[in-house]
Amino acid sequence: MTSIATLGSHCALQVLKGAKDEGFKTVLVCEKKRERLYKRFRFIDEIILVDSFREILDQRCAKILQENDSIIVPHGTLISQMSSNEIESIKNPIFGNKWILRWESDRKMKEKLMLESHLPVPKSIPNPNEIKGLVIAKRHGAAGGKGYFLATSESDYNKKRDELIRQGIIDGDNDLYIQEYAFGVSAYLQYFYSGANEDLEFFGVDRRYESDIDGLGRIPAPQQIAVDLIPSFNVIGNSPLVLRESLLDEVYSMGEKFVEAAKRLVAPGMTGPFCLEGVYDSNGKFTSFEFSARIVAGTNLYVSGSPYSSLMYNEPMSMGRRIAREVKIAKDKNVLQKVVT
Ligand code: AMP
Repeated sequence: MTSIATLGSHCALQVLKGAKDEGFKTVLVCEKKRERLYKRFRFIDEIILVDSFREILDQRCAKILQENDSIIVPHGTLISQMSSNEIESIKNPIFGNKWILRWESDRKMKEKLMLESHLPVPKSIPNPNEIKGLVIAKRHGAAGGKGYFLATSESDYNKKRDELIRQGIIDGDNDLYIQEYAFGVSAYLQYFYSGANEDLEFFGVDRRYESDIDGLGRIPAPQQIAVDLIPSFNVIGNSPLVLRESLLDEVYSMGEKFVEAAKRLVAPGMTGPFCLEGVYDSNGKFTSFEFSARIVAGTNLYVSGSPYSSLMYNEPMSMGRRIAREVKIAKDKNVLQKVVT
């Protein structure tokens, strides 16, 4: 009997609860230090204890997952803790397209896919000496905003980069990708593309609450200047958002363009959950500075369904549950190879 497995972090609870609701056995690869936490949840059927998530690459883990006929649901923790080569070497089936995860982790490939999708993206700045207005310097991979910083000139950039090197957060310029800062209201658009039904579903929107940047607004300007802090963008949590209904048509067409571009660049394309991350400006135009090619933690908000999933399903449909539903649909239609790699 097929089971759904994931790593114990990020959105594991939602994914496994959804899998259980769909009648699957659930398996958690869990670091020993978190065993007590995850044991609290009765919908987790089997726990594979490890010292580090990297053990998922080892024979022992692979064998247990194989015995359980597990499909692994990848999430941000897998990406942040393993290289693309390692992820691609996993023998057990992975939900979605594991090859596209490399396009998420590598900034250059990421930019290429976004441009191919014809999404409005902020300009990247290849060299710090080309910094003219406000820019954001970002680390590679799923760093979760930690160690990101804003700069307005080359000297400002150099000063902050050197401070991060001193703190041991980065090694140097090669760890950073510089992009124009996009002004507006942030929105993280959550989609699901069904490979089995060949259909795009818009699942929800969230905003991230990021420290230190979101806390700074609580301090008056003179004190902000006095503390001389390099604020990071480290995600602490997410809050829900609904969009003006007039924006929805564009939301779908951006998602469709992304799916079409992914089909051209990285077979079998963007299947399963993904997220387009960006800001809306004062004209309601979206600029996208990122994508995630797998489930995002912002979907944890909607364990009982979102305002958008409720319009499509007459039952509580979380993203985790939708993933499990897709496995069921694909099995019924005998097209499982379309939804796992
Ligand atoms: P990311 O890792 O790219 O998702 O970025 C983490 C956070 O940095 C985002 O949630 C935004 O708050 C911020 N951010 C990243 N890129 C930009 C940008 N080009 N313009 C404005 N804010 C950005």
